[in-house]
Amino acid sequence: MALADDKELKNLVLKVAMLNAVQHGGKAQAGALTGKIIGEKQELKTRAKELAALIQEVVNEVNNFSIEEQKHIVLQNWPESLKKEKVEEEKHLPPLPNADKYVRVVTRFSPNPDCVLHLGSARAIILSHEYARIYDGKFILRFEDTDPKVKKPVLEFYSKIREDLAWLGCKIDEEHIQSDRLPIYYQYTEKLLLDNNAYVCTCIPDRFRKKSLAHKPCDCRNLPPENQMQRWRHMLDGSYAEGEAVVRVKTDLEHPNPAVRDWPALRIIDTKKYPHPRVGDKYRVWPLYNLAAGLDDHLMGITHVIRGKEHLTNKVRQEYMYSHLGWKYPEAIHYGRLQITGAFLSKSKIVQGIREGMYKGWDDPRLATFLALRKRGITPEAIKKMIIDVGPKPQDVTLSWENLYAYNRKILDPISERYFFVSEPAKLKVKGVPREFKAKLPKHPEKTEKGFRQYTITPEGAEKAATFWIAKKDADTAEVETTIRFMELFNVRIHKIETGAIEASFANESYEEARKTKAKLIHWIPEGEEVPCRILMPDATMNEGLAESYCKKLKPNTVIQFERFGFVRLDEVGANITAYYGHK
Ligand SMILES: [Zn+2]
Repeated sequence: MALADDKELKNLVLKVAMLNAVQHGGKAQAGALTGKIIGEKQELKTRAKELAALIQEVVNEVNNFSIEEQKHIVLQNWPESLKKEKVEEEKHLPPLPNADKYVRVVTRFSPNPDCVLHLGSARAIILSHEYARIYDGKFILRFEDTDPKVKKPVLEFYSKIREDLAWLGCKIDEEHIQSDRLPIYYQYTEKLLLDNNAYVCTCIPDRFRKKSLAHKPCDCRNLPPENQMQRWRHMLDGSYAEGEAVVRVKTDLEHPNPAVRDWPALRIIDTKKYPHPRVGDKYRVWPLYNLAAGLDDHLMGITHVIRGKEHLTNKVRQEYMYSHLGWKYPEAIHYGRLQITGAFLSKSKIVQGIREGMYKGWDDPRLATFLALRKRGITPEAIKKMIIDVGPKPQDVTLSWENLYAYNRKILDPISERYFFVSEPAKLKVKGVPREFKAKLPKHPEKTEKGFRQYTITPEGAEKAATFWIAKKDADTAEVETTIRFMELFNVRIHKIETGAIEASFANESYEEARKTKAKLIHWIPEGEEVPCRILMPDATMNEGLAESYCKKLKPNTVIQFERFGFVRLDEVGANITAYYGHK
């Protein structure tokens, strides 16, 4: 049966197209639908072309409707899909180029495990993963660990990187490690050598460079394949020492960029001296970036390579190899540089700082590593939203920490409970409290269903006094014979200020009075209701103070807002509390 005559299939395509249109401002994208349909009907895999034609036809039909009409049709026919699709409506990444040409979109993220991941990788990770999800495709994690000498991989980072991806909510569909794939790289290298498309160059670098700059071949280039193969075997068997020979892939010697001409593809590393953390000294010939990544992108069926524009020259280099092998280069999307002002995004500086003891660890709050951000209560949702909003555009983008905080605040503000933290505590004694007061403080100002923190203030002694802790900052700005308001409690009049101790008297209870006299609103903790609390700040200093006793009931890892202070993530909760500061 022709697919166009399959009523059930046509209905399915119509549904998927309508939902897709509603998600994308009224215009369905044919490319996004193929994977989805095949996901539900595997048997159509072999009829991709016919299916693509049917999808195009339906999409044209659907896109003729206005978005209101589309929404109406979805509501009438498939109301159950609307809820799920609504959540996805916010995503607005531009469509991938030529997605409809591929049965399944496949993307990859390919870090070198020589450091933990940081915010600088967020764009590559999130865009690659997100596109794989939008198109019902596949997301591959590929460890590019083929430099045991200079950018030496470290075992702990393989797992740390997997953990970072899991934390970011990126599901890995497939994982590869390049150090497991050396026989594959060797196999293709031999093919390139035998086909006269690569050669083993034994020139000293300076000699090669001079020839290359003059657009001239070096003496090695035109040796016949038998000689090349013999030289290659000498690379493998140790006849050549490190630095004595490299494999080069042939390019056009007239290429305007000298860095493209006959680029180096494999080199020797003395792995007796520099063993690889996974495979030790098993191999002494190691592929360089363009050979390994270039081969893998094809062999792993990557359809869309999404990476920074600093890779544009690598694409030019690799295209020569692709043409030697008769392969088609994947779609390449090169986005611009994303800078975060004030964030250290240099791997080498991070590694150096850790080695020299400047940073306490990979989660040092001064770093923009995902480990550090996690500790500080920055949510993966905020990072994801920010990256998706920036998108894959080729222009450079500069953001600030404050941009990221704004995204995070939007997520945390509606859900975080509020508590009091008194930084550098000072004692304030209120005399003349007329009766017992029961303070009832909502855990969230708009969500009273979250419950309350309750404190009873009982005046004591002949002075009817009650003692509180307030923050040094509030103590320092208090003035004699003025009124201040204790949030959700009462107003007090200041009489005497001494370092670390303030005397005041009860003024009145009403908030209206406080408002009229423009009394400052401050937070407080009754003496005896405090728990010592230390907060690690983003500059790695420690803010010491007291948290209200209710905080002892909270679980570690909860993110709360200390009122008038900022969002913090609780790290340890016990007789003392430790927390990491996020932001205001
Ligand atoms: Zn040479």
